[in-house]
Amino acid sequence: MTSLLKATAVSRRRLLSMLTAVGLLPKSASAVTPAVESGNAPLQTLSLTPAEWKQRLTPAQYDVLRNEGTERPHSSALNGEKRRGVYACTGCALELFTSEMKFDSGTGWPSFHSTLPGAFALTTDFKLIFPRTEYHCTRCGGHHGHVFNDGPAPSGKRYCNNGVALTFKPTA
Ligand SMILES: [Zn+2]
Repeated sequence: MTSLLKATAVSRRRLLSMLTAVGLLPKSASAVTPAVESGNAPLQTLSLTPAEWKQRLTPAQYDVLRNEGTERPHSSALNGEKRRGVYACTGCALELFTSEMKFDSGTGWPSFHSTLPGAFALTTDFKLIFPRTEYHCTRCGGHHGHVFNDGPAPSGKRYCNNGVALTFKPTA
């Protein structure tokens, strides 16, 4: 009986190492860390009055972030940005996307297939005939764009973001 228990313990250890080897168990946390890392500190929300936002933002930034406006397509220089780096919120500097999440959607707006964890909260708007999922920065509540289900694999998502709501920090 004792030797049977011993044999079971050994094979359980062997089973765990086999699962790790075939990728069913993670080897370590570093295996899933993206190459471009975010420097976000623990979340502290930013709440300002409309007058304070108007002081802080340009009229174009205010229209998108605080008024849920949409910039003209192809108007943002970030549309063609291809360098490695991080995209942060113009309103509050919360880091939202990395360059690895960006793709060319051909729409004329900077587009991303995924976001950094906890970057956005989602709501539904009915400004067009069909409902669209709108996303807002979780730190300052600023409007950034809409997310659609026609993005590339593996997420299948397309975060269609106003360039004026983003600041780009290239990786040194
Ligand atoms: Zn923000």
